[in-house]
Amino acid sequence: MKIHEFQAKELLKRYAIPIQDGITIDNLAQAEAALDQVQADFGAEQFVIKAQIHAGGRGKGGGVKFCSDRATALEKINDIFGMTLITHQTGPEGRLVKKVMVAEALDIAQEFYVAITLDRSSGKDVFMVSSEGGMEIEEVAKTAPEKIVREAVTPGLGLLGFQGRRLAKALELEGKPARQAAAMFQKLYTLYREMDASIVEINPLVVTEQGALVALDAKMNFDGNALYMHSDVVEMRDLDEEDPAEVEADKYNLNYIKLDGEVGCMVNGAGLAMATMDIIKQVGGSPANFLDVGGGANVETVKNGFRIILADENVKAVLINIFGGIVRCDRIANGIIEAVKELDLNVPVVVRLAGTNAEVAKELLSNSGVSIISADHFEDAAHKVVAAAKGA
Ligand code: GDP
Ligand code: MN
Repeated sequence: MKIHEFQAKELLKRYAIPIQDGITIDNLAQAEAALDQVQADFGAEQFVIKAQIHAGGRGKGGGVKFCSDRATALEKINDIFGMTLITHQTGPEGRLVKKVMVAEALDIAQEFYVAITLDRSSGKDVFMVSSEGGMEIEEVAKTAPEKIVREAVTPGLGLLGFQGRRLAKALELEGKPARQAAAMFQKLYTLYREMDASIVEINPLVVTEQGALVALDAKMNFDGNALYMHSDVVEMRDLDEEDPAEVEADKYNLNYIKLDGEVGCMVNGAGLAMATMDIIKQVGGSPANFLDVGGGANVETVKNGFRIILADENVKAVLINIFGGIVRCDRIANGIIEAVKELDLNVPVVVRLAGTNAEVAKELLSNSGVSIISADHFEDAAHKVVAAAKGA
């Protein structure tokens, strides 16, 4: 799960990590009051206006504006609200800006990159830091990866003192700022662990002209499987930033990811879902989604799955590929029959059921009178659905 910069900064604050502070608003009418408060609380004379969306690269896309006076700040708040911000992470369609952070402006002397994530190959959390922080970090990673210094954390020990100092040294910090940075990295790791984050990224971490070490930006993702332990993080979820169909699927515990092909897929089990997408590709089609209805699929799950798949207007045909292990095929068949009757399908549906009670299911389907295309095996199903999607 992702959160906004302003929310990530709240968490940093909770762990006593200094941030570029501000006030986040969700409409233009709050602009004057926000500027007043940023002036009063943080003594700011200059401001940075920052679009809050779940995507990076806002600066380059025009979503972060430095304003040397209040009038300019008002103007930029006005510009950024309601703008469709396009960054390298939003895709060409961009993202509508619904929240704006009015932040205190700082005088920056140096910009660093700091991130923590899990390195799957070593099975350890790893710090990555670079003295070349800021908006060009992707370029640095590509052209000069040696400028990104890594430090692995030993499970159970946390980031040790010498490791914090080593990271600070990699940023060429000395004296007091080095000690501050080392301590900050340890706090940052504590946050990452305690909150079950999957990514914490501060880009840039800055040294101000006054010599203070401050997190100017913050990005955090959280492990969805641990969210039940973090109600405060769940409260930060912003459904406006998520795909509506995925949010809907989530309500019914369906694992749905929208893709851009034309064959809707309803499958049980992630492995079978992946294999189904592969075979659709292999026979010349393209999947419109990934949908795992899970092991406990029933009539309701099938109906909801159908509704979500059909709401995607790119879908030209649907493949139902279910292996009856825990779930029995006859129950799935009943779900399909009810769903088809209720939902008034306007695209062909190919069904392949295998496993427990597959024969009973087949009979149910053929006696039901609903118009589905029955398939005998996996490959047959793929050929039939791709042909159907192409209007054959
Ligand atoms: P991102 O582009 O989405 O990563 O947004 P950031 O919050 O990182 O802001 C982009 C850039 O704006 C930063 O790398 C800074 O160079 C600049 N910026 C942000 N806040 C300030 C500030 O208070 N003072 C100055 N001088 N630059 C800032
Ligand atoms: Mn940034």
